[in-house]
Amino acid sequence: MRRVYLDNNATTPLLPGVFEAMRPYFAERFGNASSIHHHGQETRAAVEDARESVADLLGCRAAEIVFTSGGTEADNLAISGLVKGGDHVITSSIEHHAVLHASKHLEEIGCEVTYLMVDGRCLVDPGDVRRALRPTTKLISIMMANNETGVLQPVEEIGKIAAEAGVPFHTDAVQAAGKVPIDVARIGCHALSISGHKMHAPQGVGALYVRKGTHVRPLFYGGRHERSRRAGTENVAGIVGLGKAAQLAKEALDRSDDRKMAALRDRLEQGILAQVDEAGVNGKGAPRVPNTTSLHFDHIEGEAIVIALDLKGLAVSTGAACSSGAIEPSHVLTAMGLRADQARASVRFSLGRQTVAEDIDFALALVPETVARLRELSPVYRKTAIGS
Ligand code: PLP
Repeated sequence: MRRVYLDNNATTPLLPGVFEAMRPYFAERFGNASSIHHHGQETRAAVEDARESVADLLGCRAAEIVFTSGGTEADNLAISGLVKGGDHVITSSIEHHAVLHASKHLEEIGCEVTYLMVDGRCLVDPGDVRRALRPTTKLISIMMANNETGVLQPVEEIGKIAAEAGVPFHTDAVQAAGKVPIDVARIGCHALSISGHKMHAPQGVGALYVRKGTHVRPLFYGGRHERSRRAGTENVAGIVGLGKAAQLAKEALDRSDDRKMAALRDRLEQGILAQVDEAGVNGKGAPRVPNTTSLHFDHIEGEAIVIALDLKGLAVSTGAACSSGAIEPSHVLTAMGLRADQARASVRFSLGRQTVAEDIDFALALVPETVARLRELSPVYRKTAIGS
């Protein structure tokens, strides 16, 4: 059976070039990057090359990159590392759970956290950030791109507000890295998280940019790895993969491949909406990353659509991967003002660098017919249709 994967916000496949770059580090190049002999020097050089590539993608110095086990650890390192009990933190209600649950933990240790609301387009108002500032505010953490809607937040404006107030600014750029150009100096952030597996590197590796002069307390203690910011023997193969993926992403952005991806995404979105009524784009009218569209198909469960499409070979998602099977509607979609039933009726399609035009044709042939079939089976829809 033909299978098409449009769930790249959950995870991406390794690009062949990434896998080839990693391959030697599973076997013949096995040294501990802290060892002084030949084997260690070989892997140390590979780790430092990867650091240069990641820094190049983000527009920072190599020394400002701390490798981590992924986006979750990078978020936690920034949040726990910049804040202590009694401090005030500003974040948003649409953050990934890596930030939201880390913020809940801060509340348990005596911090106060303001969770800003978003408008119907999934956008944080920078004015709200300014209004939420207090003398005790020690961190602003607002994501760059939302994982469910792909909506890009006004991080540059927020960065300016943070700079004026002298408050450190962290942004979770896990869903933005490799999809849109990132320049940490333009954003004006002090810390920025990325994750390998959202940009065609392997799962279990990520990085935190930490601006020179910004002190983050480590999450755990051990050796002096990563300039004492992240103890633990480096995951060399993973780091090499992240470095290669960063290099390939930079080259693709320089070639404006993101525009081609946006064109494919727009064809998918418009093609579906032209054939399906009582449906709409979540985050319509807001700037978005080029690979994501989140659509609500009223009167049916997104979960049912995902399962029906999977049976036909198309992999999509109801939103955050970890919420699959959960009965609660997405916190992001409800924060945007969607009714709980509309939030539950939402499906996320996310493209990757491997997505080709034929994949979009495949989805366009399947989605409208699947929605129509499920609506026919839905008592809610039939009642509304008969009533109208
Ligand atoms: N932040 C965002 C916006 C994400 O989408 C994800 C993963 O879904 C994470 C953080 C967590 O990253 P990781 O899976 O590398 O821990």
